[in-house]
Amino acid sequence: MPAINFFALKQLLPMSKALEALNWRPVSDYGGELRGPCPVHGSRNHRSRSLAISGDKWYCHSCKRYGDQFDLVAQSRHVTVFQAALALAVAHGVKIPWLPRSAAFRLRRNRGEER
Ligand SMILES: [Zn+2]
Repeated sequence: MPAINFFALKQLLPMSKALEALNWRPVSDYGGELRGPCPVHGSRNHRSRSLAISGDKWYCHSCKRYGDQFDLVAQSRHVTVFQAALALAVAHGVKIPWLPRSAAFRLRRNRGEER
């Protein structure tokens, strides 16, 4: 499977694009930290402020999950991070920055060495 250059893709698809795709609206905004209901565990109260978003990072004070914009879409939609990234790119008309084959191979080999 080809590998996505997530570092480059994050520049093209910031958190705001993921929130747009999830149709998420903040309930509050304190100095740039957005709070609102968590789409991952499915906050029942639409005024919930369990999900905290700062930059391209999020953390849920209720379900304790966290990650970046791709993790948020993946966990909300129950798909892999790879699938979430592809879907976001297609939805926003962004061309996927693929890693060259040699880099993808090196990445897999390095991951293999870590385990
Ligand atoms: Zn949650």
